[in-house]
Amino acid sequence: MKVTDHIAQASGTIMSFEVLPPLKGKGIEALYKHLDPLMELSPAYINVTYHRSEHVFKKRTDGSFEKVVIRKRPGTEAICAAIMNRYNVDTVPHLICGGFSLPDTEDALLTLSYLGIDNVLVLRGDAAKNETAFEPEPGGHKYASELLKQVANLNAGVYLEDELQGTNKTDFCIGVAGYPEKHFEAPNMQTDMHYLKKKVDAGADYIVTQMFFDNAKFHAFVKACRDMGITVPIIPGLKPVTSKKQLTMLPQTFYIDLPAELSNEILKCKTDEEVEKVGEQWLLQQSIDLREAGVPVLHYYTLGKPHVVANVVKRF
Ligand code: FAD
Repeated sequence: MKVTDHIAQASGTIMSFEVLPPLKGKGIEALYKHLDPLMELSPAYINVTYHRSEHVFKKRTDGSFEKVVIRKRPGTEAICAAIMNRYNVDTVPHLICGGFSLPDTEDALLTLSYLGIDNVLVLRGDAAKNETAFEPEPGGHKYASELLKQVANLNAGVYLEDELQGTNKTDFCIGVAGYPEKHFEAPNMQTDMHYLKKKVDAGADYIVTQMFFDNAKFHAFVKACRDMGITVPIIPGLKPVTSKKQLTMLPQTFYIDLPAELSNEILKCKTDEEVEKVGEQWLLQQSIDLREAGVPVLHYYTLGKPHVVANVVKRF
């Protein structure tokens, strides 16, 4: 079922979780162990992130270097199918521009439709580890809006090979990313919002946001979207702070701020167990406020700490 149908059929705020594919070598059991306690909370759907290949240079015995391609977390499409099979829950695979040619994307979308997956979250992806700026695959998409158009085309039965006749139309519900604190590359919020609107005008069915820790920023973002005529559901992305090092790591990685009230509480903690408690309480307050504001979905980035998210969900 589509994310938008889940929202339309719900009588109140629903909940979704985001997970990462297991690290290569860990096996899918690691993911099931992560998900089992979360599935008891009956989420409406599960997002599975996509991780592009990285190039690393390995030193040979003769001192020269060999360029090696490594994919640490392969298998997003298959993992979505495995989750659907095991838990009978809808999934939302993330699909990125980086590392994909147009035919690669078409093949991935067809695989997803054959697997009975109704949703995709379309993203540009970040720069590869060895690059300073995002570089599309030769002939590939430069922005999420271009990838979105390819999905919308396939939904209209338009394939890359235009000689194909009587083609099947896919029917993906398409999500896109939004940034209450601005995407880090955008010169200002107004420009970023302009491109977000372009994604919606090109056919995005809903927006899911980057994580934030100050609900006022989310509420202002929603208002700005509505003021410029964006009417699709806007889903807040939420994550608990669980360690002291995240005080610097989260702003550095995701270009977001942590409110002083939260960071001051964390700085008082002596252990990461204490930080987890502070993070849990903060996430609970954020969730309660957002639910009262009538958000359609509370989307939790569960990452390495599913029990913290589970504790929050059980408490409201
Ligand atoms: P875009 O919408 O393409 O925007 C990228 C930048 O370009 C923005 O600054 C925008 O303002 C600007 N821009 C957009 N269109 C144009 C245009 N036509 N001309 C000029 N400028 C333009 N990354 C992964 O690799 N895998 C994942 O699974 C993943 N999941 C994510 C889930 C969520 C909810 C979020 C918020 C992010 C996720 N990311 C993921 C990270 C994401 O790929 C990065 O934030 C990336 O840098 C931008 O992706 P985007 O889809 O927002 O890009």
